[in-house]
Amino acid sequence: MKILVTGNAGFIGFHTAKKLLERGDNVVGFDNVNDYYDVDLKEARLKILKETAKRFGSDYHFFRHDLADRQAVEDCFTDHKFDRVIHLAAQAGVRYSLINPHSYVQSNIIGFTNIIEACRHAWTPHLTYASTSSVYGANTSMPFSEHQGVDHPLQFYAATKRANELMAHSYSHLYKLPTTGLRFFTVYGPWGRPDMALFRFTQNILEGKPIPVFNEGNHTRDFTYIDDIVEGVIRASDDIVRPNPEWNSDQPDPASSNAPFRIFNIGNNNPVQLNAYIEAIEEAVGKKAQKELLPLQPGDVPDTYADSTALEQAVGYKPNTPVTEGVAKFVEWYRGFYDV
Ligand code: NAD
Repeated sequence: MKILVTGNAGFIGFHTAKKLLERGDNVVGFDNVNDYYDVDLKEARLKILKETAKRFGSDYHFFRHDLADRQAVEDCFTDHKFDRVIHLAAQAGVRYSLINPHSYVQSNIIGFTNIIEACRHAWTPHLTYASTSSVYGANTSMPFSEHQGVDHPLQFYAATKRANELMAHSYSHLYKLPTTGLRFFTVYGPWGRPDMALFRFTQNILEGKPIPVFNEGNHTRDFTYIDDIVEGVIRASDDIVRPNPEWNSDQPDPASSNAPFRIFNIGNNNPVQLNAYIEAIEEAVGKKAQKELLPLQPGDVPDTYADSTALEQAVGYKPNTPVTEGVAKFVEWYRGFYDV
């Protein structure tokens, strides 16, 4: 199979592309390798993808372009005919969307439009794309289910991701393009993002610097280990959905397994308090953190908790990595990669 993975220089896209190459798929990557965080880390991931393709005898091509460049996206779809598209490139990060909203429009709205238009014209059999638990906002009942209302996002980032879900719905409705949106819940693990808590906390603890702990560490997150996420993404992408006579495009069930428009939670179904997460990092690093206790940040939600039953029923998704194990794997990777 030939699969387009956008955002393959990024954390989740890298792991997804690597797994696909290892199982013998041909992968085309698309990423502008922007400097939202350390470009050297992104280049190191790209180097590993090249080596993996060589080792497993898979084909690997890379487009270093901006998704907002319509011509570049069209050229990519002209050069290659894809059996699947897994769209993971985006301007990620909740807090940065308060600082630079325009980059979210550029990547998440214009970029998404270019990808979904290209899928439509190329008759791509299935578009799977990244959404986020942030679409639930606050004041939702626990655990979060796909049937809950999601029209009160707290951050601009979440608003752009919710917009993607609505855009996908319109394309599924108008053009019968099968789409699957996956609402990720705080993904962590080796090669993780430097702007996320696990990376920053590990770095600061190792360097003897204080760590900023918002909401005094009392909020909970459904931290989901990268290998579990990749397994779910690939299973969802492989599971091509097609329109059927019972499908009602005016009242689609977001988690129905037989509609061309689907949305699933993909989490760990087991929220952990931030303070317990920090304890796991301290344990793995072998050093106590100096905590700088701070209030909840504007736009932050107090708790996230996934109900991933629908994805389990549709494709057998079952996360099975406890946070202590996943955090230890991250710290081991961090020490090796940065030689500390
Ligand atoms: P990441 O920032 O590591 O990866 C995103 C990649 O997309 C980067 O390599 C970046 O260079 C690329 N990119 C951004 N804008 C682009 C553009 N305009 N053109 C081309 N490439 C562009 O982030 P990630 O953590 O791997 O996240 C992957 C996806 O999952 C994103 O859509 C993100 O919003 C979503 N998500 C992630 C998490 C998480 O916890 N990591 C949680 C919820 C949702």
